[in-house]
Amino acid sequence: MNYYIFNEKNILVRTDSHMLPDASIWEKFSNSDSFDSVFGERIYSYTAASLPAENSTVAPSGCEFIPLRQYFAENSDDESALAARAAGLLNWRSAYRFCPACGAPLCDDEHLTARICTKCGRQYFPRIEPCIIVLITRGKELLLARHRMRNQDVYTCIAGFIEIGESAEQAVVREVREEVGLEIQNLRYVGSQGWPFPDQLMLGYRAEYKSGDVHVQESELYEAKWFTRDALPSFPKAGSMGWRLISGMYD
Ligand SMILES: [Zn+2]
Repeated sequence: MNYYIFNEKNILVRTDSHMLPDASIWEKFSNSDSFDSVFGERIYSYTAASLPAENSTVAPSGCEFIPLRQYFAENSDDESALAARAAGLLNWRSAYRFCPACGAPLCDDEHLTARICTKCGRQYFPRIEPCIIVLITRGKELLLARHRMRNQDVYTCIAGFIEIGESAEQAVVREVREEVGLEIQNLRYVGSQGWPFPDQLMLGYRAEYKSGDVHVQESELYEAKWFTRDALPSFPKAGSMGWRLISGMYD
């Protein structure tokens, strides 16, 4: 059984090995009534809980909270996906407490990964928000940008949500046009990653510069510049799709 204990975007691990905590640690939290929300799936052999956001919980002796993205970087894709599933379902269950149609309370469906309305019977499935992220290259140069809405000290790829009715490729072309004013060519899908902060699916692309001068959309970006791999600025840490693209995993 895997025991996942989340505190906002962090996960509890053992300090020495960064392995997950065991049942005795779980029970300590559980007995002290400090969990905000608890959820498990026997079929996937995990139990997960979140601590309240305002709780500045001190990790028990021998354990520490590390960023979930660091956990992804240190573990296999399968282990990362299971932790992401647990975190994503906890987030989704806490957001989907009442029926959007009739306002009655929702409960967990007995058979499906779904919430069901206790009054009108409507079913709601976990929400996944598809996003694109694209690394644009021009010869040996990479285009990286500082975003206003994210960590402003790091440069990363152009990214955005797919809008209703669009294909993922259309979203890439639109986002690049809107955010940096460039035209791209040879768009190529390279891989995807579940990103439960709170509910994204990141679809990774590479594209080559075709034409235009960089003009940033100031509501979204501070700046966007061309860099070479031997002189990269600070960029996202391992564990994210941005890191995979920028560090050359898909070259
Ligand atoms: Zn309802």
